[in-house]
Amino acid sequence: MKCVTCKHGNTALGKTAITFVQGENTLVIKDVPAQICDLCGAYYLDPDTLEEVRKVVNDETKTGHEISVVKLKKAA
Ligand SMILES: [Zn+2]
Repeated sequence: MKCVTCKHGNTALGKTAITFVQGENTLVIKDVPAQICDLCGAYYLDPDTLEEVRKVVNDETKTGHEISVVKLKKAA
């Protein structure tokens, strides 16, 4: 698909890492499948992946670790 961020690049399926910072806690989720722009690097997640990411964020924020690095595991 056409990248909506830079409006020039095209996206291709790949894997990215997403970093969340909440207060003093930093969470890095690796191996997230996403459509990634070949020009500006913007990434787009599909709704299922976004839901998985949300679950991981919820679980990890409960642990209270200052820094967590996890791999996204698809449930299905
Ligand atoms: Zn782009």
